[in-house]
Amino acid sequence: MSLNIVLFGPPGAGKGTQSEKLVNKYGLVHLSTGDIFRANIKQETNLGKMAKTYMDAGNLVPDEVTIGMLEAEVKKNSQARGFIFDGFPRTPAQAEALDKFLDSIGEKITVMLALQVPEEELVKRLLLRGKDSGRPDDQDENIVRKRIQVYHDQTAVLADYYGKQGKFHGIDGIGEIDTIFDRLCGIIGSEMN
Ligand code: AMP
Repeated sequence: MSLNIVLFGPPGAGKGTQSEKLVNKYGLVHLSTGDIFRANIKQETNLGKMAKTYMDAGNLVPDEVTIGMLEAEVKKNSQARGFIFDGFPRTPAQAEALDKFLDSIGEKITVMLALQVPEEELVKRLLLRGKDSGRPDDQDENIVRKRIQVYHDQTAVLADYYGKQGKFHGIDGIGEIDTIFDRLCGIIGSEMN
């Protein structure tokens, strides 16, 4: 059985940063739906053009599109030792689709790691990132707050979804990057035994 991690948390919680470190330590494939959308925007694909209208407004890209894209990426990496799902799932429909899909290939989510960071800290981090990331959705405080609102309205409920499966773990996302990484590894270690 592979190690399949849902790395969860609001925008700015540190999912991307911690994903990089987890990839290095555990040799997993990192699938960030946000990164895949941004790559499509850069390449000016139809998918990218469609996604951009939602992303620029701080809204979610429709489930159908996102789920199809994610499944295709998993299939492309059939030899993977496991995956880090970063920024996916973001709705109950996505979570259910992911469970169904993984089941169909004899896999499942091992654990959900939820990075917890207070809202004002998230806004501060995102606006700071916006100064050099070039991400338009990080540069406007209204859009940043809108994304956090969308997280509360549509995504936060997934903590319960994974909680019911006994897979939810909340992690304090405040502190040094390495300290937070150690917290994540502590949980992963105990799940792998
Ligand atoms: P992120 O890089 O995870 O912050 O995502 C940036 C933007 O991409 C989000 O604000 C959404 O517009 C879109 N996006 C990323 N992942 C998803 C997803 N799983 N479902 C819907 N939209 C997504």
